[in-house]
Amino acid sequence: MTTSDEHSLSAAVYPPHPRLVNPENRAKPWVSSMPEYEALYKESIDEPDKFWTRMATETLTWDRPFRSVSQGSLKDGNMAWFPEGRLNVAYNCVDRWALEDPERVAFVYEADEPGQATTVTYKELLEKVCTLANVLNSFGLRKGETVAIYMPMIPEAAVAMLACASLGLVHTVVFAGFSSASLAERVADARARVVITADEGLRGGRPIRTKAIVDEALQSCPEVEKVLVFRRTGNESVPFSAPRDVWWHEAVAAQRPYCPPVEVNAEDPLFLLYTSGSTGKPKGVVHTSGGYLLGAALTLKYVFDIHAGDVFCCTADIGWITGHSYVVYGPLALGTTSVIFESVPTYPDASRYWRLVEEHRITQFYTAPTAIRALRRHGDDFVTRCDLSSLRVIGSVGEPINPDAWTWYNEIVGGSRCAVVDTYWQTETGSHVITPLPGATPAKPGSATFPFFGVELAILDPTTGAELEGNDVSGVLAIKRPWPSMARTIAGDHKRFLDTYLNPYPGYYFAGDGASRDADGYYWIRGRVDDVINVAGHRMSTAEVESALIGHSAVAESAVVGAPDEVTGQAICAFVTLKDGVEATDALKGELVKEVRTRIGPIATPKTLILVDELPKTRSGKIIRRILRKVVAGEADQLGDLSTLSDPSILEVLISKVAAAL
Ligand code: ATP
Ligand code: MG
Repeated sequence: MTTSDEHSLSAAVYPPHPRLVNPENRAKPWVSSMPEYEALYKESIDEPDKFWTRMATETLTWDRPFRSVSQGSLKDGNMAWFPEGRLNVAYNCVDRWALEDPERVAFVYEADEPGQATTVTYKELLEKVCTLANVLNSFGLRKGETVAIYMPMIPEAAVAMLACASLGLVHTVVFAGFSSASLAERVADARARVVITADEGLRGGRPIRTKAIVDEALQSCPEVEKVLVFRRTGNESVPFSAPRDVWWHEAVAAQRPYCPPVEVNAEDPLFLLYTSGSTGKPKGVVHTSGGYLLGAALTLKYVFDIHAGDVFCCTADIGWITGHSYVVYGPLALGTTSVIFESVPTYPDASRYWRLVEEHRITQFYTAPTAIRALRRHGDDFVTRCDLSSLRVIGSVGEPINPDAWTWYNEIVGGSRCAVVDTYWQTETGSHVITPLPGATPAKPGSATFPFFGVELAILDPTTGAELEGNDVSGVLAIKRPWPSMARTIAGDHKRFLDTYLNPYPGYYFAGDGASRDADGYYWIRGRVDDVINVAGHRMSTAEVESALIGHSAVAESAVVGAPDEVTGQAICAFVTLKDGVEATDALKGELVKEVRTRIGPIATPKTLILVDELPKTRSGKIIRRILRKVVAGEADQLGDLSTLSDPSILEVLISKVAAAL
C-alpha cells in the first residue's frame, strides 16, 4: 500500500515488563508468554468448537446449554453463535455477582465535579435494574421491542441498558452530545416507543439541555409514547409534559425491587448502535446476546488481564461501542469494578484523569488517542504530579496511535512499568480483534500487534481481492471466519450489511481499513481504505505521514489527505495543530515538511501544509478526513452527512484557510 517502510518510524520493541509477567503479590497474568498465546490462538483456530465451548461455559451462565457452537458463513451472511443456547445478559452481568458477593462494588461513579464520587454495589445495582425493569414492564414494553437511551455518563445510563437486557428489550444508546436532529433520526430508524433520558447533563461544570433536546427531537417522532426522565441536576425550568413524560424517581418508587430476568435466545438482539460516522452516514449495527457478551467479557479479561480486586476504568461514553463493551457489559460480565466518568479530561484541569487513577487506585485505564494527544499537548507536569503506581495496563482505541503518542503514554502515564495495549476493533466487531496481551506480547509502538483468539486475519490485494500470503505485505484488512461478537446485520437493512462488509470480498469480512503485516508478522493499521492517498502511483498511508508529523516536538495533531494534482494525480495536503505555546511561523512549516521527508522519504513530502487550530472530528473524537478531502478538492458545498461532526463552527475558518493555501 505504500513504498516506504513504517519501521523507520518505530524500530523499538518493548517486551512485557517483568512485574507483569511475574508479579510478586498477585496472580500471574492469564497469558504470560508468546508460546502460551500462540497455543491458545492455535486451538481457537484449529479446534474452534472445543475452544469456544470451554470459553462460553466458563465465562457465562446459560439457562439452557447450546448444542452447536456456530452456524452459517461469511459468504452467506447468516452467522449464528451458540444458537440453541438460552441466557439472560443482565443475569450474567448483575444477578450472579449480587448473589455471590453482594457488597462488591460494581460501579465507581466519578461525577462531573471532583470530590463527589460514589459507588454502587452489585446488590444495589440488582435492585436498581429490577425496579427499572418493572417500570418498563408497566409501559407495556415486551421482549424484542427497542428502547432509546439518551443519557449523561451516570450509573443510571447503565441501569437503563441492563433493565432492557433483563426484559429482553433491545436498547439503542444515542450519545448525549448529539443534536436533536441526529437523535430524531436514530429514534425513528430504531422505531423506539420509549426514550429514557435525564433532565440535564453536566460536563466540565456546564449544564447540557438533555431533556430539551429530546423534546425537540420528538416533535418529529410521533410514535414515542413515553419519556422516562432521570433527575440529574434538578433544574426546575426543564420542560416536562405529563402523561408522556414520567419522572424516573416517581416511577421506581411505585415498583418492587424484584423482577425475574427474561430468558432469551443467544441470537436474540441485545442492542443496536450507530457507528461513529467517520466515513459517512452512520450504520445501525445489530449485536446479539450470547456471542457479543462472550466477546466483550473474554477480550476484557485477557487484553486488560483482569483479576479479582481490580478497578477498571474506560473513559469512553456509553454512547459508543467502547462504552458498551468496556464500561458496562465486559466488566460486569466478569464481576469487576468499573469506573463511570461523567466529566471531561481537562476539567478542572488536565490532571483530571490522573487524579481519578490516584484516588480510586485504578489498575487498568483505557482511553482514546485523541485524549492522549490532547493531554500530551498540555505537558507532562499534569501527569507526573499524580501517583499512578496502581496502574498495570493502559489501553488505546479508536484511531491509530502515532508512535510518539504511544511513547508518551508508555513513559509518562505508564512510567515505563505498564503494558500499553493498542486495541484495534470496530462497532461492527463488538470487541477487540487485533491487540497485544499484557503479559505476553512484545509491543511495537503504533502496531496493534496480533489477532485475538478466534480471529483469523487476512490482508487482501485491494483490486484483485487475492489474499497476500507471508509477511511484509500491505493491502486491505479482512477477517476470514466469523467470530462470536461480530455484528449480525444492520437494523432494517440486511442488504446494506452484506454490501458493506461481506460482498466486497466474498468469503471475507471487509473492515474498511488498510493494513500491513510486517516482517515479524505484526499488524499495522494504515488508515481508512477511503482515505488512502495515491501520489504518482504510490499508495501512501495516512497514519504513517501523520505519525511523522507528530514526531516533531511542536506538533499536537495532524491529518493528511490527498488533494487533486495535475501532475501526480494526488498530492499530499497536511493539516497540523501545534502544541500549546508554539508559534506558527513559515520556518516551522518548512521544518515540518522536512520532517516528513527525512522520516519517510521524498515521495511522502506534503505539497501543502496548513496550520489550523482544530481538526474536524466526530463526536467520539476521531479525525474526519473525508471533510478535509472535500474541502481541498474545492467541494466544500458537498460535505455529505455532517451530523456526527463535533464542532461545525470550525468549518468556515477551515475553508478559508484552505482557499488561501491552495
Ligand atoms: P463509520 O463506520 O460510521 O465511518 P467509524 O469507523 O469511525 O465510523 P467506529 O466503529 O467507532 O466507527 O470505529 C472503528 C474504526 O476506528 C476502525 O475501522 C479503525 O479505522 C479505527 N480504529 C479503532 N481502533 C483502532 C486502532 N487501535 N488502531 C487503528 N485504527 C483504529
Ligand atoms: Mg467504520
